[in-house]
Amino acid sequence: MSSETNENINKKKYNYLQIYEAAIRNANDIIILFSSQGNILEVNRKAVDTYGYTEAELLSKNIFELRNRERIELAIMQFEKAKSGDVEFETIHFKSDGTSFPVEVKSIGIEISNDRFVLSIIRDISNRMKSEAEIRGLASLVENTEDAIIGKTLDGIITSWNIGAENIYGYKKEEVIGKHISIIIPDEKINDFYEIIKKIKNGERVRGFESKRRKKNGQLIDVSITVSPIYDFEGNLIGASNITRDITENKKVEKELRDKYEEISALYEELIAIEEELRSNYQELEKAKEEADKANKAKSEFLANISHEIRTPMNGIIGIIDLLKVTELNNNQKEYLDMLSNSSRLLLGILNTILDISKIESGKFELILKPFNMKKTLDRITKELSIACSKKNLEVFYYIDPYINFDLIGDEIRLNQVLINIINNAIKFTEMGQIMFKVRKLNTTNNKLTLEFSVKDTGIGIKEEFKNDIFKKFIQQDMTYTKKYDGTGLGLAISKDIAKLMNGDIWFESIENKGSTFYFTAEFLVNYAENINNDNLNAGDDEIVSSKNKRILLVEDNEINIKITCEMLNRLGYEYEYVYDGKQALEKLKENTFDLILMDIQMPELNGYDTTRIIREKEIKTKEHVNIIAMTAYSMNGDRERCIEVGMDDYISKPFDMNKLKNVILRFI
Ligand code: ADP
Repeated sequence: MSSETNENINKKKYNYLQIYEAAIRNANDIIILFSSQGNILEVNRKAVDTYGYTEAELLSKNIFELRNRERIELAIMQFEKAKSGDVEFETIHFKSDGTSFPVEVKSIGIEISNDRFVLSIIRDISNRMKSEAEIRGLASLVENTEDAIIGKTLDGIITSWNIGAENIYGYKKEEVIGKHISIIIPDEKINDFYEIIKKIKNGERVRGFESKRRKKNGQLIDVSITVSPIYDFEGNLIGASNITRDITENKKVEKELRDKYEEISALYEELIAIEEELRSNYQELEKAKEEADKANKAKSEFLANISHEIRTPMNGIIGIIDLLKVTELNNNQKEYLDMLSNSSRLLLGILNTILDISKIESGKFELILKPFNMKKTLDRITKELSIACSKKNLEVFYYIDPYINFDLIGDEIRLNQVLINIINNAIKFTEMGQIMFKVRKLNTTNNKLTLEFSVKDTGIGIKEEFKNDIFKKFIQQDMTYTKKYDGTGLGLAISKDIAKLMNGDIWFESIENKGSTFYFTAEFLVNYAENINNDNLNAGDDEIVSSKNKRILLVEDNEINIKITCEMLNRLGYEYEYVYDGKQALEKLKENTFDLILMDIQMPELNGYDTTRIIREKEIKTKEHVNIIAMTAYSMNGDRERCIEVGMDDYISKPFDMNKLKNVILRFI
């Protein structure tokens, strides 16, 4: 009781005015007293702090200067209303620096001694406005986002459902509020719900949980769900909010990508398999090619060997025929002998052709360049051409450019081979009419001369369909012709290679049943240093040489070859001796001197190469030099080089006739 009495006593001691004044001065709101015209009469501290004017400045201002001047009518209306009672509104006030801020105003009209005043309590609501705007923004965001945002109780009863949810699931808000969330969960996924709620109850959040949901129309969609707990103001867990994103499209794209990736992977694997197959095919091909190359090489070697084997007896046959010809024979025998001679020379020709082809195929076909006189070559050819044509009653014409420099360097034998081949063809395929042989100069540079040879006939000609094949190997026009005309079908193929080696070409023009012209061009070196020895040598054909006292040693193991060669040497007027191998030759040379040795290569005991080497070694001391000429049945390229390499002076290939033997001997003695 005594405390109550004390309070009353204390109250009486207060000066209320002082209390109100302190309250107003220190209030957290702006408090202003206006005159009935709106002039500011009193302001508190908060007013000074907020508006940025000094108190004196504020006291000289009017309510309308604090407000938006453009909306002055509203301000007047509100002020008038305040005078006659009280008013509450929200508006904008302006500070001294021109910035504005939202305010909530409560104005009360008061009457003091018949004068009307307005007392305004003004609150800066910037912060409140800001958070309200934020909340409004968030709400609209939640409402309008593409994601489904669903609120639910811990039992799964749906409490909120935004537009995103309506769009994704097809249910309107009214259809689902109050319903269980399982309405959108397919049966097989219903455990999702219990699992998630369990986590939420443990205070966990679920992020990016992927699952399936069912739309109103029954369609299943892929979703990614993030679930957060909802608490009430007192912090009690009351539910959960789901943010659900439809990832069906993503999944589709993802699946497509995966499918594509798998497809590409499969393709890639296939490619690797193909590559491997190709590689192994390639290896097989390489192997096959290697084998083919090996086989080809073996074939070439076989051909060379065969030629050796056949040439040796051929040498014997031809030699003996030549010897037989000069014995006494009756007419029958003479005729048979001629036939035998022709056949064996033809056989030798075929043998030579096959040998050429084997050289071309093994890449060993090369020219042997020597000085020669083109005039002599052409004279001989035209002579042969005339004789052959007269036998077939064909007319012959020839034209040889007189301004050709005739002293040349080239492979005369190969040139001869090509010309004889196209001339023989012309004669062979022409039954009547004429053959025309022309040689003209195409161009000359410093030391080179290109000649064009052409052979024109009036024969059977070449069919269109055959024209492309004519230079291929073993090609003849057709079977009927093949029967009628002999030949191997190799001549032109070889000629083409020779032309190429001579930096020239070979080609033809032909009309069936009218005739053909074959052209052949070749390049030669001009031999300015005229070679007198060469001329003398060639002239040797017609000379009778004094061969008395010239001694020749023949080293040869083949009995028939010995007989033939000795007979030839006898006729040529040389003295000679013979031995069967290199060992015997070395013995012989100990007591005898010879002007020349004809040395076979393949012999028992000591072969031609080794024998020559030994002879040359001995000669280093004696400072002598005996001429050694190799006789070999091998005519593969390189034989000549090998002979020269071991110290031989020249080379003659078997079979040879007397003329050939004479020429090679004359070169040395
Ligand atoms: P071969 O004359 O030995 O058969 P070639 O290679 O020299 O071989 O000629 C190939 C083929 O070209 C001949 O068989 C022939 O059918 C044809 N031929 C060549 N020259 C003539 C020509 N002047 N007239 C008609 N056909 C020709």
